[in-house]
Amino acid sequence: MNKSDILKYLNDISGEVKELSLRIWNNPETSGNEKESSNLFRNILKSYGFEIKEIDGMENAFIGEYGNGSPVIAVLGEYDALPGLSQTLDIKHNPVKINGPGHGCGHNLLGSAALGSVLAIKKYLEETKTSGTIRFYGCPEEETLVGKVKMIKAGAFEGSDIALSWHPMNANVALDKAYLANNSIKFKFHGISAHASQSPESGRSALDAVELMNVGANYLREHVIDSARIHYTITNAGGAPNIVPKEAESWYFVRAPYRKDVEEITERLFKIAKGAAMMTETTVEYEVLGGCYEKLPNNVLFDLTYKNMVEIGSPSYTEEELKFAKDIQESLDPKLVEAEIKKYIDSDEKVFLHQGVLEKEKASSVVVSGSSDSGDVSWLMPMNLFLTATWPLGVPAHSWQATSSSGSSLGFKGMFYAAEIFSGIMYDLLNDPKLVEAAKDEFNKRTESRKYVSPLK
Ligand SMILES: [Zn+2]
Repeated sequence: MNKSDILKYLNDISGEVKELSLRIWNNPETSGNEKESSNLFRNILKSYGFEIKEIDGMENAFIGEYGNGSPVIAVLGEYDALPGLSQTLDIKHNPVKINGPGHGCGHNLLGSAALGSVLAIKKYLEETKTSGTIRFYGCPEEETLVGKVKMIKAGAFEGSDIALSWHPMNANVALDKAYLANNSIKFKFHGISAHASQSPESGRSALDAVELMNVGANYLREHVIDSARIHYTITNAGGAPNIVPKEAESWYFVRAPYRKDVEEITERLFKIAKGAAMMTETTVEYEVLGGCYEKLPNNVLFDLTYKNMVEIGSPSYTEEELKFAKDIQESLDPKLVEAEIKKYIDSDEKVFLHQGVLEKEKASSVVVSGSSDSGDVSWLMPMNLFLTATWPLGVPAHSWQATSSSGSSLGFKGMFYAAEIFSGIMYDLLNDPKLVEAAKDEFNKRTESRKYVSPLK
């Protein structure tokens, strides 16, 4: 059995993989509620002879393992949906359920591609008796950016040598640098309530503190790096206007390209919170809900990923699929679409779907401005990352257009391409121990002076 036999086998089981992704798409479960989705994965893996290992304290997380000895390859799978992004397979906004959840980030494809590839490699290991272990990581709660951070705390990644990851998107790209590091923090202010008209002098407003903290944070913006992002909401602003609010709360995200910048800005935000509390004679507590790291580059895995993407070749499309892509694209802001197309294609022509693979040299200019808890895994072991075109060019993540495309044949084609890329990479890693060593050496050098510290207390 060689690489092309593996890809042939993957094609044989493609019906089962498609069926899985469709079932998950039809039953979107949001972060922390992925009970049925995780069980669908567990059951398929069990039926293929994988051993299922549960993770302490995490009902919807698990590992499906097969094989013996090293290398131990971890393939990351996710399956959570997003609130409010319910959508039927349609070219116009048409939710299945108004404000219901939907797969607007394509995680129905994300997990299923990862699953398809481990099934194919299992067949290879079984037939050839090659040394190596594959692990499918069932990772919940990605959209709330904490699932893998919790799994790491629970020791779930111990013993793995290399991690492989991908994400559905609107283009075929191997990425090295990606994801913004992030912290998610709640600030709870405590004051003294009083009648706001009869005895305001005896009250101390927790809401005043929240507002003053926001003013401070807005002045801070000028004095942080341009690429940092600070966003907040007020999650508790008190009750009636005639009562001085005793309790008030705000929720902040701090993001930046590097974890160290996020940590520095967070420390300054803590000072602002303390200052606001001092000004208003209230007290403040912080609750760090989560945090994650940027992806640590690994050139060895980047090269290997790019090589496999080109070797295998991106999907081709039918007239019907191109028409669907065109219609979806027309529902978006044309300026946004134009800017997005320019990132990938040197032409003023109207292009609806990305075909081919973005040149390696251009990949470094593709900025993934979201955050992901997969970034944390890249600080534990060498990790790759790639995107495939599961959505028309210009479609942003977390949109109804992404939900619709993730349940269409475009989504499935991008998903199979991802499963093929994973399989190709694993075949190469299993057959060339030097590649594994080189990826690990690079990882060790990059982390010599900076080790992973969990953002969770
Ligand atoms: Zn996502």
